[in-house]
Amino acid sequence: MNTRPGKKSTRRDFIESGLSLAGASIIGQGCGRPAGLVGRQDGPGPGQLAVPASKVEILAEADLVVCGGGCSGVTAAVAAARRGMRVILIERWPTVGGMATNALVHCWHRSDREKLVIYGLVEEYAQRAEKEGWIVKDPGYPRVHETNWFDPEGMRIVWQRVLKEAGVRVFGYTAAGEPVVEDGRIRAVLVETKRGRRAIAGKIFVDATGDGDLAAKTGAAFDFGRPADGLVQGMTLIFQLRGIDPSAGERRHKAVAGVMDRMRKMRDQGRFPQFNEGTMEHYLNWADNESLWNMLPEAGNPLDEEELTRLTTEAREKLVAYLAVWRKEVPGFEQAAIRQTAFALGVRESRRIRGRKTLTREMVLGAAKQSDAIGHGVWMIDIHDPKGTGYTTYLDRAGRKMLKAGTSYHIPLGMCLNSRVPNLAVVGRCASSTHEAHSSVRVQTHCMVMGQGIGTAAAMALSAGQDLARVDVPALQKALRADGVYLEDVPVA
Ligand SMILES: Cc1cc2nc3c(=O)[nH]c(=O)nc-3n(C[C@H](O)[C@H](O)[C@H](O)COP(=O)(O)OP(=O)(O)OC[C@H]3O[C@@H](n4cnc5c(N)ncnc54)[C@H](O)[C@@H]3O)c2cc1C
Repeated sequence: MNTRPGKKSTRRDFIESGLSLAGASIIGQGCGRPAGLVGRQDGPGPGQLAVPASKVEILAEADLVVCGGGCSGVTAAVAAARRGMRVILIERWPTVGGMATNALVHCWHRSDREKLVIYGLVEEYAQRAEKEGWIVKDPGYPRVHETNWFDPEGMRIVWQRVLKEAGVRVFGYTAAGEPVVEDGRIRAVLVETKRGRRAIAGKIFVDATGDGDLAAKTGAAFDFGRPADGLVQGMTLIFQLRGIDPSAGERRHKAVAGVMDRMRKMRDQGRFPQFNEGTMEHYLNWADNESLWNMLPEAGNPLDEEELTRLTTEAREKLVAYLAVWRKEVPGFEQAAIRQTAFALGVRESRRIRGRKTLTREMVLGAAKQSDAIGHGVWMIDIHDPKGTGYTTYLDRAGRKMLKAGTSYHIPLGMCLNSRVPNLAVVGRCASSTHEAHSSVRVQTHCMVMGQGIGTAAAMALSAGQDLARVDVPALQKALRADGVYLEDVPVA
C-alpha cells in the first residue's frame, strides 16, 4: 500500500494511486488537475507544494500524438502516418514494444480455433517477422487460439522499422507527463527532457500508455480492479535460463513431481516463495535454453512506482531461490543460470478508462456483434489471481470462460473514445472494459486491432476537420477492410 508513515490516507489518495477501498473496485476521476488549469488552483494544502506557472517551449508539433509505444501505440501511429498524418510517438522506455518486447511477452492469439480472424497490420508484422525468422506458428495453428510465438528482440526491430518507414517521429526515453488542456481539449502534453520541461503539441492525442496515464490526468473517469475488492490482475516477471542440459531427458521428467512436492511443502511452511504450480511443472519438464518462462507471480499496485520497484526486485530474488532448488534437485539443471530477466515486470491490468462504450463479459462470451466494430476478438476470460498465487482461469480452460470455437466478438470503436475530451482516444489494455472483459481484450492482437482502428479513425477525422466521435463509421470500416482488417457480420446501426 502507498501509505507513508504518519500520513492518513484519504479516499482521494486511494483513487489517485489506484488502490482499493475494502469491498469495492475504484472508480476514479482523473489524477489531479491538467496543466492547463494550474494557474487557477488555490494555495497549497498540507503536504503540498505550489509549483509556479511557467512558459514552456514547444519541442515538437504533429497532427496526432500517441503516448505509449507498446503494440497498440505503435499500430495507431503507423496506421495514421500511412494515411499522410504527421505523427509523434512518445515512449518512456528506450525502445518500443511495451510488454511484448520489454516484458518478454511473446505469444499472439489470432484464431477463433477454426480460422484466423485478426489480420490487418498484425498480419503484416507476422509476415515481416517470419521473413527474418523471428516468429513461428504454433503447432496447433489455427486450431488453437495461440497462433504465433515470436522473438521479442525480433519484434522490437520489426516495429522500429515500420515506424521509420511510415515517417513517425519517435521520442524514446521520454515520459508523457501532464496534459495542457484548453477549452476542454488537449493542446499539448508536457515532457521532462534533459534540457528542461518542454511541450509536445498536437490536434488529436492517443493514450496508449497501458495505464491510462494521459486520460486520467485530463480528469477522465476510470475503473481500477475487480468489483469485489478493487484488486487488479497479478503480474509476472518473465525470464530465460542458460546451462540446462538437454541430455537429462527421462531422469528430469521422473524427478519433477517429487521436486514440485518438496517446493509446495517448503512454501506452505513459509520457507520458499510463491510460484505458479501448473506452469512451473510444465517448464521444469519441458523448458530448454531458449524458453521464456512465464510463471513468476507478483501482485500489487502497478500505479505505485515504489511498490512496483519492490515487486520487481522481489521477483528476481524469488528466481534466485527457485534456481537454488532446481540446481540441486532437477537433473539437467545442475549448471542452470539466469540468462536474462525481463527489463520490466509484466503488468496485466491497471486503469481502465471509461469510454463511450464499455466491453463486458457478456459481449465477449456471447460473441456480440457491434455496429461500430473495428475488428474481432477471440481470447477467453483469462484472469491471473490478483492476490499473486499465480493461478489463472486460463489453466482450467473452463467452457464457461471461453467463446465457442468458430466464434468471435467485435471490438467496438466506442470503447476507445472518450465522452469528456473530444480529441482523446484510448487504445490497448487501458481502453474501456469491465475487469472480466479486460482479461480477454488485453491480449496484444486485440490491442493492435484497437490501434489500427483508432489510427485510421484519427486520420479520417483530421482530414475531415471533425472530432473523433463524428467519424463516418461505415467509411471507417470500409477503409479498415481495404487495409486488410478482418471485419465480418457488422450489424447495421
Ligand atoms: C506476463 C504477461 C503475460 C501475458 N501473456 C500474453 C500472451 O501470451 N499473449 C498476449 O497477446 N498478451 C499477453 N499479455 C497481455 C499483453 O502483453 C498486454 O496487455 C499488451 O501488450 C498491452 O499492450 P498495450 O500497447 O496496451 O500496452 P503496453 O504493452 O503496456 O505498452 C504501453 C507502453 O506505454 C509506455 N508508457 C507507459 N506510460 C507512459 C508515459 N507516461 N509516457 C510514455 N510512455 C509510457 C510503456 O513504457 C509501454 O511501452 C500478457 C501480459 C503479461 C504482463
